[in-house]
Amino acid sequence: MSIIKLHDKYFKTYISEEKITEVIEQLVKQVYKDCKDENPLFIGILNGSFMFVADFVRRYTGNCEVSFVKLSSYEGTNSTGKIKELVGLNESLEGRTVVILEDIVDTGNTLQEIYKIFKDKKVKQLKIATLFFKPDVFKKDLPIDYIGISIPNKFIVGYGLDYDGIGRNLTDIYQLTSTPKLKNIVLFGPPGVGKGTQAKILKEKYNLVHISTGDVFRHHIKNKTELGKLAQWYMDKGNLVPDEVTIKMLKAEVEKSLGANGFIFDGFPRTEFQARALDKFLAEKGEIVNGMVALEVPEDVLVKRLLERGKTSGRPDDQDNAKIRNRFNEYSTKTEILKDYYQAQNKYFGVNGVGSIDEITLRLSKIIDNL
Ligand code: AMP
Repeated sequence: MSIIKLHDKYFKTYISEEKITEVIEQLVKQVYKDCKDENPLFIGILNGSFMFVADFVRRYTGNCEVSFVKLSSYEGTNSTGKIKELVGLNESLEGRTVVILEDIVDTGNTLQEIYKIFKDKKVKQLKIATLFFKPDVFKKDLPIDYIGISIPNKFIVGYGLDYDGIGRNLTDIYQLTSTPKLKNIVLFGPPGVGKGTQAKILKEKYNLVHISTGDVFRHHIKNKTELGKLAQWYMDKGNLVPDEVTIKMLKAEVEKSLGANGFIFDGFPRTEFQARALDKFLAEKGEIVNGMVALEVPEDVLVKRLLERGKTSGRPDDQDNAKIRNRFNEYSTKTEILKDYYQAQNKYFGVNGVGSIDEITLRLSKIIDNL
């Protein structure tokens, strides 16, 4: 499960690519059974049906031809009922078996238009296949020969369908969902970059709950819990604690503070697996990561900072050059790729982490205010 934002609205995953493929295979079988002795002309209704038509036709094994017409029926999330034919047909349809491939039939206005257009084309037979069908809003007394999936009256997007022009390229189908309530920030950057310092300031400023996975592990170590004993083995070497252990702990920390305005995640996620787990976990609660705010500081400056901190912090992983280097190695091999992960969702924001504490807070705030 994941939640995405398109324009001003939020959408959550609804029908997976695998399920869509399964349904199309069923539709192809049914159509083939009825049309195998013909050379059917498949006509896709643009724009929404382009993916469906491509996936349908590539699975259809008999002879066939393909064409498209363009009609437009949606503006925003409400069906407007206004339908125009924009691109016509050039093929002669006389005596042909025509199968219309529609991405979705809801009110039936487009379908009515299609029946009108094809009425005097002297086709041998006209069949309608639709990938999605909304029985609750279908108002017409018109036949639909093949139906992929019947869905409730929720606005959907993806797999060719758009919301005000965007979202057609999503491979799964998403449905409209409520706007997330929390502000969730991933504070990101290599060890010693100042995440902890800034997180403490930002949590007060924005009234957020600060979860530092490193601090939680250290708390467990201090209290000699089972989790602490396990984590210590990895932490002392500067290695990452295994994902399953860390994710379980993180979830427990979030659950403790669900009434909060949001969270600052500090030191989590540190692997792509953790990032995916966080997205899924938050999506199940109708929430998202609003953004990853990353502090950027050159590595040589960081090593000096860590060794300096090690003199007073008492942390064994801050006092040894080899351990520090290993932490950087873990960061560059496992964690740094998260930049790409969040960048792909337009959620990565880099901030210069060299300067006074106040200056850096200001830089971070400018970004957080807009998330
Ligand atoms: P930190 O205080 O964030 O520098 O974390 C100290 C150590 O805790 C790391 O070097 C890891 O051994 C462990 N740790 C903290 N957060 C994570 C995480 N998200 N995944 C795996 N290990 C972690």
